[in-house]
Amino acid sequence: MTLHTLHPFRDRALIDGRWVSATGQGSAVYDPATGEIIASVPDLGREEAQLAIAAAERALVGWRARPAGERADILMRWYALMQDHRDALAQILTAEQGKPLAEAAGEILYAASFLRWYAEEARRVDGEIIPAPKASQRILVWHEPVGVTAAITPWNFPAAMITRKVGPALAAGCTMILKPAPETPLTALALAALAEEAGVPAGVFNVVTGDAAAIGGALMDSPVVRKVSFTGSTPVGRMLFAQAAPTLKRLSLELGGNAPFIVFDDADLDAAVDGAMLGKFRNAGQTCVCVNRFLVQDSVHDRFVEMLRERIAKLVVGPGTDPDTTIGPLINEKAVIKVEDHVADAVRRGGRLVAGGKRGEGLFYPPTLIADVPADAAIARDETFGPLAGVIRFTDEAEAIRLANDTEFGLAAYAYTRDIGRAMRVAGALEYGMVGLNEAAISTEVAPFGGIKASGQGREGSRHGIAEYLELKYVMMGGL
Ligand code: ADP
Repeated sequence: MTLHTLHPFRDRALIDGRWVSATGQGSAVYDPATGEIIASVPDLGREEAQLAIAAAERALVGWRARPAGERADILMRWYALMQDHRDALAQILTAEQGKPLAEAAGEILYAASFLRWYAEEARRVDGEIIPAPKASQRILVWHEPVGVTAAITPWNFPAAMITRKVGPALAAGCTMILKPAPETPLTALALAALAEEAGVPAGVFNVVTGDAAAIGGALMDSPVVRKVSFTGSTPVGRMLFAQAAPTLKRLSLELGGNAPFIVFDDADLDAAVDGAMLGKFRNAGQTCVCVNRFLVQDSVHDRFVEMLRERIAKLVVGPGTDPDTTIGPLINEKAVIKVEDHVADAVRRGGRLVAGGKRGEGLFYPPTLIADVPADAAIARDETFGPLAGVIRFTDEAEAIRLANDTEFGLAAYAYTRDIGRAMRVAGALEYGMVGLNEAAISTEVAPFGGIKASGQGREGSRHGIAEYLELKYVMMGGL
């Protein structure tokens, strides 16, 4: 059975409840495992983005007025549909993104979990009554939806980066225009089809594919769009920050990271290696919370490297559709070149190549391990976004903290130690939005995900995630 007969690709954009076809050639979507074109989506621009903004503005009136329970029911149906269609969605995701099917299916469930969580949160958006200065007054605090919002999302989690934005937006009573990544629009459009089936009204959730700068420009210029949530690179995040100034939009920015993974000499090394494998090689190293550099204490450095080498040897590189595959292709040529550059840089500076180190066919790059990497290597500054594990030595806790914080980024950090005092000291000293202590799987819909410094601002997930889509209104009632 071909993918097409199993679940036809949605290859049209969604504006105001209408599925819009490509007029010209459209924008090609590639399978990174084969290089083949698998679909083409409409190559839309400024004009269509403006139509979507107008539709979202019209739809806002009815959507925000609905009782929260009704919005919650619709989100819960969307959640259930994602679960029902998990395997078909995973196939679409793997076809355009490359990650192994099992990981793709895991992402679909993770993505759906945000719809359930925010369906639950929708009915908990309450207000406050504050004791007033005078007996004749009452002070009320209301939460209101921000209004029309927009999301710009990346290719590395084609489903989850969307639901963690649209879930809280719709729960809060906002409407949304989504511009998905050009590499992975098919998952976004499949999710939109399920949203429609779940009962999300026309105009409440719009998906505009095509020219990033033109669509992004229209979203950023518009005074109607009150908030933009972006996940992607730091340079584009900085540009959006500047573009938001004229209309003073609210922004959530989830940008790059450079996660340190610190292994102290008192760590449970088996647990640390388990965590290292998960934290480094998930999605072939292409996640913003992926470990970018291992900081390992002198006395356990060689043992840790050897244990990691043994585990890396068991990874299987191949197309995501092959059930044995644990490392799929990278997303594009630029991504492969970046890994090659980081490997060459680490080796040139004296790092010892222990595994991998040479690109494979097409966009495949084998898991690579480099020991004794000096602390000034490129991996210490720049996000690799690929399957390269570079190990840097340190001597004591103070040095580990200094090296870990010596970056402009501040998204996720990890530390392995069995000393509870050290664990708390280190977690406190790390300048990061998220810290995994003896744990590498930190992403969950119930916790606030986000970074500081050049990793951005705002949080997604948990009850804090919905606050990003709510404004406070304070009402003073006098003359009582
Ligand atoms: P990556 O390099 O990982 O693709 P980007 O930050 O370039 O990361 O892309 C993340 C998202 O930002 C994608 O949806 C992309 O199309 C979008 N994007 C890129 N450039 C712009 C732009 N000038 N304006 C608005 N969105 C943009």
